[in-house]
Amino acid sequence: QAKNSGRNQYCFYHASAGQQNVDELKLEQALREALRLQQLDVYYQPKFTLDSQQLVGLEALVRWQHPQLGVMSPALFIPLAEKLGLISTLGEQVLQRVCLQLTQWHNCTIPVSVNISALQLADSEFVTRLHHIIRLADVPPQRIELELTESCLIPEQAEQTQYQLTQLKALGFKLSIDDFGTGYSSLSYLRRLPIDTLKIDQSFVRDLPDNPGACQIVSAIIAMAKALGLDVIAEGIEHQQQLEFLRQAGCNQGQGYLVSAPRPAQEFAPLFKADITESG
Ligand code: C2E
Ligand code: MG
Ligand code: MG
Ligand code: MG
Repeated sequence: QAKNSGRNQYCFYHASAGQQNVDELKLEQALREALRLQQLDVYYQPKFTLDSQQLVGLEALVRWQHPQLGVMSPALFIPLAEKLGLISTLGEQVLQRVCLQLTQWHNCTIPVSVNISALQLADSEFVTRLHHIIRLADVPPQRIELELTESCLIPEQAEQTQYQLTQLKALGFKLSIDDFGTGYSSLSYLRRLPIDTLKIDQSFVRDLPDNPGACQIVSAIIAMAKALGLDVIAEGIEHQQQLEFLRQAGCNQGQGYLVSAPRPAQEFAPLFKADITESG
């Protein structure tokens, strides 16, 4: 525990890095405070079919409105939370928020995905805690998808990871590999994992359709997904030509600014929150 619990780390910084030291300390305190007060917010980005743009899922993406710095990117504060040993707390707050949302969105039948950090999987209680949260909220696991990056699949923990994913799958969670193509997971390892979906990383999608390398990688990932019997979804679709390429290459689903950026929860209310008048 001690190695994760924050403040001691700063002893190792050089005095010349004093200002950065102070800034980081302030950021650290602000993040701890935001977690303590459960101030983090969750936005939702639609997933849609590429042929008819039908809504097939939502991805929950954490947002932090810093009191002075404004909206902070998760690309900045997720690594900080990981470094401070706060990522499990953060992840659990996001899942709780999503569950609460689902109980309010009476008409939402599509799954909502939640991003999971590799460090959360390192906790042997991970599966139990996740299950506990959704049970408390009375949300069936089938409504939740867990997005794991390839960094979750580190070979040193292959057995524990395989065991955890098998448990999660057995409980009914959907599982996907996020940012696929940027890590090092071997085919033989992937084949043993009970995953449902590969998410093609946006760095490849960005270079479609003019970059031959990107086109080949994307086509290969789609072929691999099909060979493994997995669904495939592309993230970061911004242009119609990218969507066209993906569709013709056999990818059925996508996500990206072309159709919708992540939006605050309340914007989905008209879609999902029907007036159900309780009878009796
Ligand atoms: P990710 O899970 O791969 O999410 C996709 C990111 O790409 C999101 O950035 C999303 O807003 C952005 N994006 C979506 N469509 C487009 C597009 O068309 N073009 C471009 N350029 N970007 C697009 P965001 O929300 O800033 O999140 C960044 C990363 O932070 C996520 O990548 C995920 O790895 C991590 N993250 C976000 N929320 C959580 C969370 O609750 N828990 C954990 N552990 N990680 C999270
Ligand atoms: Mg994701
Ligand atoms: Mg991704
Ligand atoms: Mg990404």
